[in-house]
Amino acid sequence: AKKAVLGPLVGAVDQGTSSTRFLVFNSKTAELLSHHQVEIKQEFPREGWVEQDPKEILQSVYECIEKTCEKLGQLNIDISNIKAIGVSNQRETTVVWDKLTGEPLYNAVVWLDLRTQSTVENLSKRIPGNNNFVKSKTGLPLSTYFSAVKLRWLLDNVKKVQKAVEENRALFGTIDSWLIWSLTGGVNGGVHCTDVTNASRTMLFNIHSLEWDKELCEFFGIPMEILPNVRSSSEIYGLMKAGALEGVPISGCLGDQSAALVGQMCFQDGQAKNTYGTGCFLLCNTGHKCVFSEHGLLTTVAYKLGRDKPVYYALEGSVAIAGAVIRWLRDNLGIIKSSEEIEKLAKEVGTSYGCYFVPAFSGLYAPYWEPSARGIICGLTQFTNKCHIAFAALEAVCFQTREILDAMNRDCGIPLSHLQVDGGMTSNKILMQLQADILYIPVVKPSMPETTALGAAMAAGAAEGVGVWSLEPEDLSAVTMERFEPQINEEESEIRYSTWKKAVMKSIGWVT
Ligand code: ADP
Repeated sequence: AKKAVLGPLVGAVDQGTSSTRFLVFNSKTAELLSHHQVEIKQEFPREGWVEQDPKEILQSVYECIEKTCEKLGQLNIDISNIKAIGVSNQRETTVVWDKLTGEPLYNAVVWLDLRTQSTVENLSKRIPGNNNFVKSKTGLPLSTYFSAVKLRWLLDNVKKVQKAVEENRALFGTIDSWLIWSLTGGVNGGVHCTDVTNASRTMLFNIHSLEWDKELCEFFGIPMEILPNVRSSSEIYGLMKAGALEGVPISGCLGDQSAALVGQMCFQDGQAKNTYGTGCFLLCNTGHKCVFSEHGLLTTVAYKLGRDKPVYYALEGSVAIAGAVIRWLRDNLGIIKSSEEIEKLAKEVGTSYGCYFVPAFSGLYAPYWEPSARGIICGLTQFTNKCHIAFAALEAVCFQTREILDAMNRDCGIPLSHLQVDGGMTSNKILMQLQADILYIPVVKPSMPETTALGAAMAAGAAEGVGVWSLEPEDLSAVTMERFEPQINEEESEIRYSTWKKAVMKSIGWVT
């Protein structure tokens, strides 16, 4: 059969906390041509610990690439049209591997993991100078969330890691680094790099100078020789060394939340998006300025789309548990068989009937940063059933977003007029309507929900030496928008929100 003629195509790896995807876009229209997705296992070896197998993650990437290429073949699309590959990834998740064998030296310690709580407590007692030491350099609070403390834990507790560091065989990376090193050849010349967005989540990276920070590395006791080279988010890092796309350049790399910001075309100062995946992350572009929050938000690198291009910063509201609460209802309580089923349960009742669910499984992130919080379900009566709890779980995601949006509005001074959204949970229409009701502003969702992958593809396609994507709005002609308008009255919305806040206060201080 004759193969269809198309513009240049760009692939994107989207390695998330819950799944890995590979997607192929037409660079002329941003149309999604084909994709494949594989769910990733999460291990919970002890309370508060969350691990993943780096090799399973890598295998899932290869599998998604191969399956997507097969599907393109069935569509008569020639895979030689794929000119570049971008990588977007779950951020902060920490891997240490052996550069001589290519073997991970421990499981990946996932961003949600809480094992470093005592590490954080000990470190916070010896912060040099004023308490702003870490925050002023990194934009981040000292928290279990970021890679430096996870790496510190690995260095303190895993013999194989200690030995490999002593013998100069250890490499550290977040998932982007692990994947790019492996995909570009691994032990046979793999490129050990990361991009500025991922680096800015390690707590070792100076977001002003855009370099690893010596003082921070000393403070955390991290040997600098195991760190990857920091590159821009859009440049050729290396070529695929194996598989159906062997020889294709990997030329885009962005942490998932930055990728979504790019995929939503939030290139202007003041433009924001909220992504609903395992967690929930609201990012607002602040242009070339590093804005420091007074209300519990993080300052982070938004993107730097080319070696000689300027850096952009963002304010970020991070919520640890969003989609994860749905997965918990599925895997731990078994009240649903699939994540989609939550919508059916919630629809049956259309209200939580006064039940509030604060899913503070990993403490609370923004705006509270309270490691002492734990999950609670309150307001239960004899009448409460699983449908109400399902509804309360969805509402919890919306309330948490309201809290970070309020913080964002206070920091930025100009309230957002609408909220651009994306991520796996946004296929849930009840959630989207609830969100509009609780924020009391319209919620706007692109018809093509894979914004994270799109952003990574755009960065890869725009790289010097690839040049198939211009990052102009007309390149997104295949993307249309769906709007959800607030339907309840503002007073009702406020009453529900203030009851939520009461519930949050009950969740704080649960563990000491
Ligand atoms: P990540 O990038 O963190 O892996 P995704 O954007 O892929 O996350 O979204 C997956 C998350 O969304 C899972 O936690 C899943 O439970 C949740 N999810 C998926 N579909 C729905 C749905 N219809 N309603 C509510 N939650 C959903």
